[in-house]
Amino acid sequence: MKRMMIFLCCISLFLFGGCKQTAPQTRQTVAFDTPCTITLYEGGNEGWLDECMSMIADRNELWSRTDPHSVVSKLNEANGKTIAQNTMTVDLLRKAIAWSKLTNGAFDITVLPYTQLWQDAQKTGVVPSQVAIDSVKGTVGIENVVIDQDGVKLQNDAQIDLGGIAKGYVADELVAYLKDVGCTSAIIDLGGNVAVIGEKPDGGAFRVGIAHPLHENELIATVAVRDCSVVTSGSYIRGFTVGDKRYSHIIDPRTGYPVDNDLLSVTIVCASAAKADALSTACFVMGYEKAKDFVEATDGVEAVFVKTDETVVATAGVTLV
Ligand code: AMP
Ligand code: MG
Repeated sequence: MKRMMIFLCCISLFLFGGCKQTAPQTRQTVAFDTPCTITLYEGGNEGWLDECMSMIADRNELWSRTDPHSVVSKLNEANGKTIAQNTMTVDLLRKAIAWSKLTNGAFDITVLPYTQLWQDAQKTGVVPSQVAIDSVKGTVGIENVVIDQDGVKLQNDAQIDLGGIAKGYVADELVAYLKDVGCTSAIIDLGGNVAVIGEKPDGGAFRVGIAHPLHENELIATVAVRDCSVVTSGSYIRGFTVGDKRYSHIIDPRTGYPVDNDLLSVTIVCASAAKADALSTACFVMGYEKAKDFVEATDGVEAVFVKTDETVVATAGVTLV
């Protein structure tokens, strides 16, 4: 966690450093287990930043997996009963379901029982047995998240974790709020889920660094973007160790195992940060060839892949600088 925070701060510094402006206003907090930074470059005020901080804190409380008062904990403990939800949570869940279907299950918020087995393994030093993985298999599947007019229920003992999409969703909300109040140039960085509003005050594109997945405090590539989101998944910095082997924190919902393929990371560049968040997680699960085909077939979505041989491959619409 500490290593990740230092590194994310490093990306943030890079973002600020790439931007000439007179008096940017910045505010930082820690939410979703990660540092979150908002920087307003033009026409901002403290009131806007106050509102952003309160939105982040509110969504963190609402969608945390570990806070026993969050709606996620309440749903996970509801034993299949329907629980009424606010419009925002329903919208987030609808998007999670849609992107799960779009990615053929590579993105799946019901992956939590697998994650828990691997978290236990981290403590015991013993990888989960196939029997243990098979025993929770029936709970995993997006069809187990059911939304109707009364609320949401999780069937077949499903358990959800919004860690692969919540930060992106909140980044979109912050973009919408800031644009609404008149902000024309800003960077929202929620633990490496970056959304930029407009362009730099000098008219140039924002430069967003992509972390080197193997070398802390290094960037492997930089993309130039205006009014866009840039979200990366797969860095081993957020992974964990069982015995002497390092594993990714992203689970392949089809096998129950941490992802181990020809990719080190996937960065998605697209208008919506929530979509970029879900699709970067999904593309990391898919592996290079399938993910590249998927991105090329999906309108408005571009990607930068870092392969295990440390080569960087970008799709046609990405500007690497
Ligand atoms: P991200 O860093 O956005 O790729 O999300 C990773 C986080 O999402 C993990 O820490 C888990 O909380 C959760 N997660 C892991 N695997 C998946 C998956 N295949 N689909 C959706 N969420 C996942
Ligand atoms: Mg994600």
